Amino acid sequence: MAKKYRLMPEHPRMFRAEVARTERVSPSIQRVTVTGADLAEFTWRGYDHWFRLFLQLPHQRLLRLPEFTGSKWWQPYLDIPEEQRPHCANYTVADFRTETAEMDIDFVVHCGPTGEVEGAAAIWACDAGPGDPLAVLDQGLLFDCPAGASEVLVVADETGLPATTNIARSLPRDTVGRLIQEVPTTGDRRALDTPDGVTVTWIVRGESTDVPGTAALAELRRHRPADASGYAFVVGESTLATEGRRHLHRAGLPKDRIFFSGFWRHEAHGAA
Ligand SMILES: Cc1cc2nc3c(=O)[nH]c(=O)nc-3n(C[C@H](O)[C@H](O)[C@H](O)COP(=O)(O)OP(=O)(O)OC[C@H]3O[C@@H](n4cnc5c(N)ncnc54)[C@H](O)[C@@H]3O)c2cc1C
Repeated sequence: MAKKYRLMPEHPRMFRAEVARTERVSPSIQRVTVTGADLAEFTWRGYDHWFRLFLQLPHQRLLRLPEFTGSKWWQPYLDIPEEQRPHCANYTVADFRTETAEMDIDFVVHCGPTGEVEGAAAIWACDAGPGDPLAVLDQGLLFDCPAGASEVLVVADETGLPATTNIARSLPRDTVGRLIQEVPTTGDRRALDTPDGVTVTWIVRGESTDVPGTAALAELRRHRPADASGYAFVVGESTLATEGRRHLHRAGLPKDRIFFSGFWRHEAHGAA
């Protein structure tokens, strides 16, 4: 995600915030609603608007943030001594309410082999309480559909659910296309505000032990783009993203009309 994208802010702004409340909105999704004076100045652009989330470490009493100008935050971040360096992870704005300066963040709750929640951000989200500090570094949009695209195809595993939810509701109402969304359980499906011309295919993994994204990829491989002037957005586990792009390119969609991103990488548990 080091590449520069057209709809990323030139001078990304850091917003300090604190937790207002949390809610398990579906079996696999923990929603954390955050707010604060800074967020009154946040401009939500819909679609897949995303950010870098900074969290203080469990032993810390203060959240230390990188100090930088322009867009070069990474080196100042690394320059913070490790024991004070905040955890950083990428998340999508699940919803934003200007009137209350509240942002919802939907965290996938993912578990390790013995069933315990794993991942510093997911663990934080499950334990978070009112007043807990955090910061959000605005990163803008990745979804960048060219004008006049013949169709839009959106494919994601559950980490892309906040993005697909908001792409669906942000798309011009005359858009045609398809959305393929994989989720862990039936209860993780949600109502989507999709243009009439966009069909939605939900894929529920259920009891399957397949790596997330495998079933969405299988469905995507059965899909053929209508022509070479569509646009595709494929995100989720790294294999879904890279193999999804490969399939679409082989099926005739030019590479510059496919946005793909490995939102996370599956690691085999117990691998040496
Ligand atoms: C632009 C962008 C937007 C994103 N938006 C969201 C979002 O809105 N909601 C969201 O939940 N995620 C989102 N992600 C994915 C998220 O950044 C990763 O899942 C991240 O690894 C979570 O951080 P962590 O600290 O919980 O886990 P890490 O410390 O990064 O990982 C710990 C372990 O958990 C595994 N792991 C990580 N994520 C998952 C998962 N989903 N399922 C199973 N195993 C996993 C890793 O392989 C690793 O073994 C987004 C990613 C990008 C690039």
